[in-house]
Amino acid sequence: MLLGAHMSINGGVHTAFERGNQIGCTTMQIFSKNNNQWKGKPLTDADVVNYKKEAKKTNIKPVVVHSSYLINLCAANKTTLKKSRESFLDEVERCRLLGIPSFVFHPGSHVGQGEDTGLKKIAESLNILHEQTKGYRVKSVIEVTAGQGSNLGYRFEQIRKLIDMVDNKRRMGVCVDTCHLFAAGYDIATEKGYEQTFREFDDIIGLKRLLVIHLNDSKGALGSRIDRHEHIGKGKIGDNGFSLIMNDKRFKDIPKILETPKGADMEEDVMNMRRLRRYVKRNIEN
Ligand code: MN
Ligand code: MN
Ligand code: ZN
Repeated sequence: MLLGAHMSINGGVHTAFERGNQIGCTTMQIFSKNNNQWKGKPLTDADVVNYKKEAKKTNIKPVVVHSSYLINLCAANKTTLKKSRESFLDEVERCRLLGIPSFVFHPGSHVGQGEDTGLKKIAESLNILHEQTKGYRVKSVIEVTAGQGSNLGYRFEQIRKLIDMVDNKRRMGVCVDTCHLFAAGYDIATEKGYEQTFREFDDIIGLKRLLVIHLNDSKGALGSRIDRHEHIGKGKIGDNGFSLIMNDKRFKDIPKILETPKGADMEEDVMNMRRLRRYVKRNIEN
């Protein structure tokens, strides 16, 4: 089972493996650099060697990168847009160097420009970036959002529109976040709602695009559009929703990653992963 959590890279990207290994991750997510900076120190050859050496000591595969929160591919401000594109490019380059296949990012906030203008700008940004990284195998993985503020990507239809406008569709993937889905109004807490949500996902986007799953319970109610993560089973989604997703054979080989609050000892991750594993019914191979 590919199960893990977002791991700190404090001390360098290579240090995440030891942390992940310590708590039994079989996959994990990291930031590719300091998350609050537009551009990080370039990765040296030694950094890359070190990363690969540490990777080999563990069974953590694949690793997923989550983009910096500063990036907004449809920023209205020209300087911010330029910085966002440069930062995205820098992170995709890091993924390539480290051999990381999925770069997860939030589509962007239209900040008053309107949804259609926002989506068009994001697609334009992605087309430029894919052109600049021709031949790279790193996928641009759009995360479904909770739709807080003017965040785009809280409806499958929006993600479809976006992919339609991107020229190189082979570079495109999607990440679902259970908290975001629920807050956006997709009721994955009930069996009926769960089946309908993923039927819609398949009809509108296509399940083959689904490359990463974030497992977070939700503090906010269904459709609240509030993005606040809760420990597994302790929020508004609850045990039933996570049991459904953990036993869904379609998602067996998709990395499932926690982004729930935790302290330095990562005890909360241990607790959440234990709970998730407990949902898995014995008749399913894992
Ligand atoms: Mn995210
Ligand atoms: Mn997420
Ligand atoms: Zn979130």
